[in-house]
Amino acid sequence: MKKQSIKAILIDVGGVLALGESSNWKKGKFIPSGVHLNMAKKLKISIDQYLDSIDTNYVSAITGKISKQKVIETLSRNFGIDSKKLKKFYIDSYKKNFKQNKELFNKLFKLKKQGYKIAVLSDQWFLSKEALMPEKIYKNFDETIVSCDVGVRKPNQKIYQLAVKKLKVSPKEILFIDNQKWNILPAKKLGMNTILFKSNKQLFSDEKWGNLWK
Ligand SMILES: [Mg+2]
Repeated sequence: MKKQSIKAILIDVGGVLALGESSNWKKGKFIPSGVHLNMAKKLKISIDQYLDSIDTNYVSAITGKISKQKVIETLSRNFGIDSKKLKKFYIDSYKKNFKQNKELFNKLFKLKKQGYKIAVLSDQWFLSKEALMPEKIYKNFDETIVSCDVGVRKPNQKIYQLAVKKLKVSPKEILFIDNQKWNILPAKKLGMNTILFKSNKQLFSDEKWGNLWK
């Protein structure tokens, strides 16, 4: 069908390649994910206390506005634990709350063998990246564009433009897959093809792009 017109797959990590619940904003209120709830539990503090302690540090780290070292240092101090323990708590919490979508990785690597470019467009901070994006899997992607490394996050148009530039294909030759509606919009605006991800089953049987995965 339309299979020939796609040259690159650009795909999200949290909620797609790493299955699990990400944090959300609803009506201006931060809805913490299981990772943050788990962290509060590990630290033996309330979720409100936890959120007060991470303050703006966590959000700033997503776009790399605070360095990895600085954010670990600040959070360790706020929580009163050493940085090694802090790192371990976060990595364990992410691993507990997310699982790698092996079926989807297999499909993507098959597409790569067929000549498609595969790339990641993801919002992460340093510790979620370390926990959710193991090098041994992600080195197989043509491009990995991650907010804490490039200094801009979705849904800022700039990160999508960066992806287009790196992939060296036109937006209409890109299939963008993400589990959040607000991240789909800028991709569409640029002219990319898009799928709002809900499950592997839904993705692989997509009306327009299902054949790609066969
Ligand atoms: Mg996501």
